[in-house]
Amino acid sequence: MKTLLPTSTAGSLPKPAWLAQPETLWSPWKLQGDELIEGKQDALRLSLNDQLNAGIDIVSDGEQTRQHFVTTFIEHLDGVDFEIRKTVKIRDRYDASVPTVVGAVGRPKSVFVDDAKFLRQQTKQPIKWALPGPMTMIDTLYDDHYKSRENLAWEFAKILNQEARELEAAGVDIIQFDEPAFNVFFDEVNDWGVAALEKAAEGLKCETAVHICYGYGIKANTDWKKTLGSEWRQYEEAFPKLQQSSIDIISLEAQNSRVPMDLIELIRGKKVMVGAIDVATNTVETPEEVADTLRKALQFVDADKLYPATNCGMTPLSRRVATGKLKALGAGAEIIRKELSA
Ligand SMILES: [Zn+2]
Repeated sequence: MKTLLPTSTAGSLPKPAWLAQPETLWSPWKLQGDELIEGKQDALRLSLNDQLNAGIDIVSDGEQTRQHFVTTFIEHLDGVDFEIRKTVKIRDRYDASVPTVVGAVGRPKSVFVDDAKFLRQQTKQPIKWALPGPMTMIDTLYDDHYKSRENLAWEFAKILNQEARELEAAGVDIIQFDEPAFNVFFDEVNDWGVAALEKAAEGLKCETAVHICYGYGIKANTDWKKTLGSEWRQYEEAFPKLQQSSIDIISLEAQNSRVPMDLIELIRGKKVMVGAIDVATNTVETPEEVADTLRKALQFVDADKLYPATNCGMTPLSRRVATGKLKALGAGAEIIRKELSA
């Protein structure tokens, strides 16, 4: 990136009300067939436009073509039966009825590559594409086939790598793997989680990122955060291993969170996407509040490696709030650019 402090979002942005029920996770589509395909593309272009208008440098599809950041990818795979459902605890936090792995998993055809090609046609800005990470995928399923979290994660890593290589060929500049599970299963992260992530990113020439967060601003997550005490030191567990890994960029949350900023020191040398927008509140940050968080982060990350971003996706927010937050992010980064060049 030539731009100093290139801004981006962690991933999802709200969908228009004519495409899906607003402010809802797993919201059902309101269109069908060809109308749905066209509707998703229209929504993608609107979402891109909102990002460009807000001065966001690294743009995305706003995840307009998926119902959920993990489920939609898994829906396209062989070996997972969505009719056979079991209740499991997602990230040790909340019960959910999930599909079952009933056989060898595979990817019969690409999942997001057409969408990525469409986005590539719309803009010359660098584009970032989010995929779920292997550990977060296995945590959203009941496994009745491999009966080993590690083996299933490894199979998913191979599938993700196929998809990632095709996304790269479609012109994606940064491929981001979402691994909120890295903030929960610390032993597994260090035993095989980071290795599975590197497998998913193997051989890519574009940049790679991993996004680790405290989740959307939904009740299960805000309740969980209340149990974490005054300092959130979860990143301390995965960061040393990630610092040694082949992943280029680490995306973390900082705005209004209790993560001690000095934990960023543990990934010194990596590019850092610092969350300077809180996605768990409807209060829109002022540009100065964003700038303040970025200034604090600059104590622990070199300016040429600081990528201002949002804490997580903004799908559950209203479009008005999300657009306001995008603008605050763009304007806040601009304040710091001016300070650095002064
Ligand atoms: Zn997130």
